[in-house]
Amino acid sequence: MNPDPGTPNLLSLAERLGRVAYRNQGRSEARPHIVVDTAICNSGCPHKCTTYVCPANCYTLDEMNQVHFQFEDCIECGTCMYACDQGAVAWSYPDPEAGRGVNWQRG
Ligand code: SF4
Ligand code: SF4
Repeated sequence: MNPDPGTPNLLSLAERLGRVAYRNQGRSEARPHIVVDTAICNSGCPHKCTTYVCPANCYTLDEMNQVHFQFEDCIECGTCMYACDQGAVAWSYPDPEAGRGVNWQRG
């Protein structure tokens, strides 16, 4: 939190992302709020755009150009839900009681 609301917050994007706390952290029974069918990604997706539009780098490409997804760093921006035009992304809206999603500090 910016201690002085009269001064600009100079944190970088990476620093801001590093401050996000996740309800999934430390939970062995954590369930993802986004499920990606990477079989679709790796069989027919012509652009693999989520590997470069996700601000938290949840979508990555390996050395074989295969897509991998991990939900733990997701900040729930919603970009991939709209960016994927291949039907690979399924979103279950975060349910805090089920241990899903980001633990927002400001609502
Ligand atoms: S756009 Fe959709 S199908 Fe393509 S890589 Fe991203 S999630 Fe997978
Ligand atoms: S909702 Fe945003 S941060 Fe989360 S995986 Fe999709 S693009 Fe990445």
